[in-house]
Amino acid sequence: MSDPASPPDLSPELVAELEQLTESLAARPDHADLARKLEWLIDALILRGQLPPTFRKLATKIRGDRSTVRLAMFRDKYTVPSADIDCAERIPLCRARCCTFDVTLSPQDVAERKLPFEIDQPYMLPRDPDSRRCTCMDASGACTVYDHRPGACRAYDCRADDRVWIDFEARIPR
Ligand code: SF4
Ligand code: SF4
Repeated sequence: MSDPASPPDLSPELVAELEQLTESLAARPDHADLARKLEWLIDALILRGQLPPTFRKLATKIRGDRSTVRLAMFRDKYTVPSADIDCAERIPLCRARCCTFDVTLSPQDVAERKLPFEIDQPYMLPRDPDSRRCTCMDASGACTVYDHRPGACRAYDCRADDRVWIDFEARIPR
């Protein structure tokens, strides 16, 4: 039995079930159904022995706050424009701070199966527990899934984000 601190790998069957959930809810602005169905799915997976009983905590957490489970609403992330920022030159300064922020996946991301997520943080890009960085980032700070990165990564613009810069133009990081 696995430790909930180390979530089990997602089996293809589980991924397919999570994918079905997103497909059925993709067109809706309200994701309350997603949380309810995920809660049900976790219970079913525990009963089938595909998740350890300790994952009931996750179902309880979702039941207590359904806003913890959401999908991003990008219909086609490949049409989302990105700000023209010289990231490669700035990463030594900003240390890719943007890649420590929470990123929610869209139904398109889930259907493509190009991006990881973990059952205990459904539909979120996983982050390293120590560095808080997205696990899709390599040691040099480069995005290893750049061509398939989520819509939020494409749409993000750090220029006026005071979590990142004291002064973007003067290249003074926070
Ligand atoms: S914080 Fe800004 S400059 Fe740094 S990697 Fe992210 S988008 Fe690029
Ligand atoms: S997917 Fe890429 S751009 Fe998006 S947070 Fe992860 S490393 Fe950064």
